[in-house]
Amino acid sequence: MNWKILRPFVQYLLLAVLLLLAGLFAAFADDKTKPTKPGPESQEAREELRKIRDSLDQLRDEHAKLKEENGLLRKENQQLRRLLADKGEPGGVAAAAANVVGVVPTNQPNTEAKTQLTHWFTTSNGRRHNSRCRYFKTTEGRRCGPHEGKACKLCGG
Ligand SMILES: [Zn+2]
Repeated sequence: MNWKILRPFVQYLLLAVLLLLAGLFAAFADDKTKPTKPGPESQEAREELRKIRDSLDQLRDEHAKLKEENGLLRKENQQLRRLLADKGEPGGVAAAAANVVGVVPTNQPNTEAKTQLTHWFTTSNGRRHNSRCRYFKTTEGRRCGPHEGKACKLCGG
């Protein structure tokens, strides 16, 4: 073997091998970085997308349910309003009127609620006076209705 002849050849071969290895490594590295990197990423993205789609579906379902519920509630509300208009209003007005009338007499505990307390009842003689009488609220007594007790002879009660 003549190393002097073989040496450049071997050197060239080594260089070639090195270049090849470098190329392979580069290709391998490229291979590894290119498909592996987007691989998990796209998988993650796909998973994320799936989750988003799932939650969207859920939201759509909930929205549909809420719409349905809202419609039912609206119907119920209308029914209730109709019921109130049919039944409640006359009673409601009467009750409100009764309350208004009832509030006035409750300020005077000894008077009856059915009459309006426009007159004055003098307790000492049981006479009733109207608001123009000089005994109105000037004698010991209480407010009373227009038909309570005996009418005052002075003012007519
Ligand atoms: Zn009087």
